[in-house]
Amino acid sequence: MNLAKIRGGAGDITKPDLNARIQDNLYLAVNSDWISKAKIPADRPLISSFSEIDLKIEKELMNDLADFASGKKALPDIPNLDKAIEVYKLAKDFAKRDADGFKPAQADLEILTNLKDLDDVKQNLAKLFLRFSFPFLFEVEPDRKNTKINSLSFDRNSLILPDTTSYQSPSAKQLLDVWQKQTENLLKMAGVEEAAAKKYATDAIALDAKIVKVAKSAEERADDVALYNPIKTNEFEEKTSSLNLGQLLDQLFEKKPDYVVVREPKFLDHFNELFDQESFDELKGWLISTFINKAAAFLSEDFRQAAFPFKQATYGQKELPSQEKEAYYKANDLFDDVIGVYYGRTYFGEDAKADVEDMIHRMIDVYEQRIGNNDWLSPTTKEKAITKLRALVLKIGYPDKIDHVYDLFQITPAGEGGSLYSNQADIREVGLKHNFDKLYKPVDRSEWYMPGNLINACYDPQRNDITFPAAILEAPFYDIHASRATNYGGIGVVIAHEISHAFDNNGAKYDEFGNMKNWWTKEDFAEFEKRTQAEIDLFDGIKYGPVTLNGKQIVSENIADQGGLTAGIEANKNEHGDMKELFENYARIWASKESPEIIKTIAAFDVHAPGPERVNVQVQCQPEFYKAFNVQEDDGMWLDPAKRVVIW
Ligand SMILES: [Zn+2]
Repeated sequence: MNLAKIRGGAGDITKPDLNARIQDNLYLAVNSDWISKAKIPADRPLISSFSEIDLKIEKELMNDLADFASGKKALPDIPNLDKAIEVYKLAKDFAKRDADGFKPAQADLEILTNLKDLDDVKQNLAKLFLRFSFPFLFEVEPDRKNTKINSLSFDRNSLILPDTTSYQSPSAKQLLDVWQKQTENLLKMAGVEEAAAKKYATDAIALDAKIVKVAKSAEERADDVALYNPIKTNEFEEKTSSLNLGQLLDQLFEKKPDYVVVREPKFLDHFNELFDQESFDELKGWLISTFINKAAAFLSEDFRQAAFPFKQATYGQKELPSQEKEAYYKANDLFDDVIGVYYGRTYFGEDAKADVEDMIHRMIDVYEQRIGNNDWLSPTTKEKAITKLRALVLKIGYPDKIDHVYDLFQITPAGEGGSLYSNQADIREVGLKHNFDKLYKPVDRSEWYMPGNLINACYDPQRNDITFPAAILEAPFYDIHASRATNYGGIGVVIAHEISHAFDNNGAKYDEFGNMKNWWTKEDFAEFEKRTQAEIDLFDGIKYGPVTLNGKQIVSENIADQGGLTAGIEANKNEHGDMKELFENYARIWASKESPEIIKTIAAFDVHAPGPERVNVQVQCQPEFYKAFNVQEDDGMWLDPAKRVVIW
């Protein structure tokens, strides 16, 4: 049997194999024992190295929040944590939530059911827009060509199914049916008559189907530069005249912007037909259906249960989280930065911070050294790349200050007529206004994208910074007592992955200040694109459980993995670390066990390859892997040298 050329190793990577050899399947050899023993919690769709840390943090924070709420522990001096606790108390008080039933959301539902025609929507658009989700949205963010200033972006909202491609899948109809029934049921529980409930849900699906036809797919949205399409405001106004968005801009902003950045031009081009008087019923149905599905999470237990079937069908989790967990999730969703700072200050040591900072600097040095030695870039491009590398800003653990928006949130306690629903609706409005108020303010480069208690890391192309929340600085990613080689295989690779995003197919188009600008010579960029295509081909068509990977959709993350793993290996080499330990821990951080439903749902929109493939396909491109484990041509992990992709 000739096993050569297998991408991703031998065997079915989604099933454990206790006899797997590293030479045939690194991921399964390292993780099969864990996979066969691991149990997916009933209230989650998967279990992974990430979610094991999350479960631990969740337990710690749930205990702390309960103790703060009961007064058992005094509130620490964290700005706005008191508000988070107030929300937690409202969320946890299911006796009150059940007694209130639909009442807290009644007035909002009536605003929508009373809408008479398109003129009615137009005349009240600013108010409606701040209170309810619309099929389109605005967002203020750093302008991609000049990141010193903010600009206004215009986008479509989410579709009912995860991606445009999901509508072609065999399960599309069944999922839409689940959504329709759930929506009708929720509306009936809210007192809407059966025939009307059915019409609202049907109309919503009809509008969604029209939007799907003009929406970009996840693959198209993965091209970052193609999302930047600034147009003059008067042109934008013409293209959105059916709902008079020009007037909306006047009402939302102190001064109308000169231009609007359109993320999906095709959606904009069809705006006036999607939202005209003739389709008014569809818009109304969409607003009401989206409203009820969102509101349900903040109402009684009955509503919470009734809003579960669609989530269950798309993610495959068996049960809803307990009421207590739900309360923690709600507080954490609405106050994530605040709770993240609390988590960081309480559970994250200064020693770990210093150690990780040291590792980041080492990784940047390794990267600089690699770019210097690179054999396919010209000296001019190398110099620019190193400038960008040296300008990277580091954000480690948790921020020093908490976003000002939390100062603006006002919580109305139950005693003064407040409910969980009313408070979250108010918070949403304040949050939106706060974002819109940034339009004429300079960009705040100290803002963090991720809270301290999130197990993740990110690169922000507009700020050219990398963020490592405290929560990811835990085993198996990082352990102060583990060997450097093990940590390089974990957090080291993650650090270098984020650095690599500065040079992935999207990041490569931004300069050291985060401005969209070409800093490459023509020849160098052509070579980069050739290598990017090789990375696309490397992953394209790989079967993973019930899905087939789309190489284009996941290319930026795969480039980041390629660069990340290479730099991790190089750093380990510089310190004469054990390569086996590095590869084994790299395999460990991606251990996961998932429901088939979540695999399908996530693959439809995720820009990352599934964890197991991130391990095996990437190590197959690394000469050090073949050396460390003596991998030979007839082993399952062997990949023909001509197919191995080297970029960074
Ligand atoms: Zn990434």
